[in-house]
Amino acid sequence: MKIETKCLHAGYTPKNTEPRVVPIVQSTTYVYDSTDDVAAVFDDPTKSLIYSRFENPTVMAVEEKINALEGGIGAMCTSSGQAASLLSLLNILKAGDSFISAATIYGGTVNLFAYTLKKLGIECIFVDADASEDEINAAFKPNTKAVFGETLANPALTVFDIEKFAKIAHAHGVPLIIDNTFPTPILCRPFEYGADIIVHSTTKYMDGHAVQGGGVIVDSGNFDWTNGNFPEFTEPDESYHGTIYTKTYGKAAYIIKARMQLMRDFGCYPSAQSAFYLNLGLETLHIRMKQYCENALTVAKYLESNDKVESVNYPGLPGNKYNELAKKYLPDGTSGVISFVIKGGRSTAVKFMDALKLASNEVHVADIRTCVLHPASATHRQLTDEQLVAAGINGGLIRLSVGLENIDDILDDLKQGFAAI
Ligand SMILES: *Cc1c(COP(=O)(O)O)cnc(C)c1O
Repeated sequence: MKIETKCLHAGYTPKNTEPRVVPIVQSTTYVYDSTDDVAAVFDDPTKSLIYSRFENPTVMAVEEKINALEGGIGAMCTSSGQAASLLSLLNILKAGDSFISAATIYGGTVNLFAYTLKKLGIECIFVDADASEDEINAAFKPNTKAVFGETLANPALTVFDIEKFAKIAHAHGVPLIIDNTFPTPILCRPFEYGADIIVHSTTKYMDGHAVQGGGVIVDSGNFDWTNGNFPEFTEPDESYHGTIYTKTYGKAAYIIKARMQLMRDFGCYPSAQSAFYLNLGLETLHIRMKQYCENALTVAKYLESNDKVESVNYPGLPGNKYNELAKKYLPDGTSGVISFVIKGGRSTAVKFMDALKLASNEVHVADIRTCVLHPASATHRQLTDEQLVAAGINGGLIRLSVGLENIDDILDDLKQGFAAI
């Protein structure tokens, strides 16, 4: 199946007289004919369903769909994007280990990596994603077990050189984890460039309609966990009566271990109802992503030509610092998110944004409706003008998430916003 068809059909194939639409299995538990059947499923939990803290048929249909879209060997949904990033790393790292991450990543992920994981004894070594191979190699320590980056960073909109980082990570015998939230598999499939694990906040474009939060981890099945660096994969797991993941589950060792150990213990699994909504979003993902890109490129060009705008950051624009990388990794477009700096700083930005009628002020991106956020008033509110400059945030910076309204209406709204300043 081509990717558009997978959006509609992967993950669920009804048999004779079964429901056309993936059913919501709203049950925490499952029944067995005998105690022997129960025992068998504890011996190998992949054979049947046990408990909805870590598996549910509705959620699993969506996992299968996202897995098919990314081209992986298996996927596991989580209750948020944050939970997906957390578990993707905890499945590999323990106290005393370190990992490398690009510095330009989502702010929530920075908090998780720099502060919360640190409390758990895991060190994140931040590197500039544009650094040379030598500089990145020099950041590795003997205890470094993974590398992490965002295909299209939120909110910096930098494009991550997946092939470069995959090559470096593999030379050190560690996997590359990619947060592919903004492109979705419609615009980029990181496994094709050597990434080993993918995470998403499905809260964004995948859901698309701003109705429920979620995340997912997808395993390529390509990383060799038996290379000596990952004893948790190759030695018996005492919490699962001595299972050796690479021996029992082969290429699917990573994603099955994530479910059997981490989801079992942390329980951040989505509800069937949430997965049902996510599936509805995925069914139109291919159509929506194309339109977001088309609308955003038109808006970016309009902003670039506007003399009230100081600068526009959209990697799809010719002349953007990341346009060459975007052509390679995101040839069909760079999503609907744009940031731009309005001339006149914080007060002009506020005036402009308050004048918008169609675009709503939201602490969200990748909504189906056009929305805006003023970082200086929201996520970076506590900073003074001087501190904003030091943090690299211009008071006039506006993040614009272009939605699926008619492009003329979006442009008209921006025009009347500029007229109001
Ligand atoms: C929003 C976001 C996250 C976190 O996802 P939640 O679903 O809000 O927990 C992670 N990565 C990126 C790139 C995001 O945009």
